[in-house]
Amino acid sequence: GKSRSCSVVNLSTIPDRGVNECNIAMLGCRGSGKSALTVKFLTKRFISEYDPNLEDTYTSEEIVDQQPVLLKVMDTADQDGPVNCERYLNWANAFIVVYSIDNRRSFEACRLYLDTVSIHTKGVQQEYPVILLGNKLDMERYRQVSKSDGLSLASKYGCLFYEVSACLDFDSVQRVFHEAAREARRE
Ligand code: GDP
Ligand code: MG
Repeated sequence: GKSRSCSVVNLSTIPDRGVNECNIAMLGCRGSGKSALTVKFLTKRFISEYDPNLEDTYTSEEIVDQQPVLLKVMDTADQDGPVNCERYLNWANAFIVVYSIDNRRSFEACRLYLDTVSIHTKGVQQEYPVILLGNKLDMERYRQVSKSDGLSLASKYGCLFYEVSACLDFDSVQRVFHEAAREARRE
């Protein structure tokens, strides 16, 4: 007989809809280590000198909880404080706000970023995971921000809190980025 044109869709040829994607914006004042953390996450290496004005977005295919995630990281490079925030507020679905534990001023600057993000997410009626991240844990001797100060600021804004170092172990840094992706999926 005549072969009929087949109207049955072969499901296996349809690309996965909703392949997990997560856009993470790195925020925080200049010098807190956003680029060093981003590079560490992407390459497992610590780069000590990174162009402070370079803002870029990087993509990495990650496996988080046995599931593939296309993780994009925007390493922002504000001159002083949150300006032109739309570029990341409208793009990101997770935020990592970084300070340096050996620099009180960098910690105070986090409030501005946390306020900016929380005002935005209230406006769009959607929750996005925010992680407050104390960097330069290797500088313990010069610590100016106690762990409990970090914790209490994080709890005030309802965000997660970690302390790491971009120049120590890779796993702790990776864990923070993966946690952001995990939380973004949950929202
Ligand atoms: P950004 O302006 O937030 O992107 O900061 P950078 O990543 O450019 O880092 C600013 C400075 O801090 C550079 O001199 C880095 O080498 C240094 N730095 C970054 N992360 C760490 C860290 O975990 N420990 C130490 N000791 N220095 C760091
Ligand atoms: Mg930078």
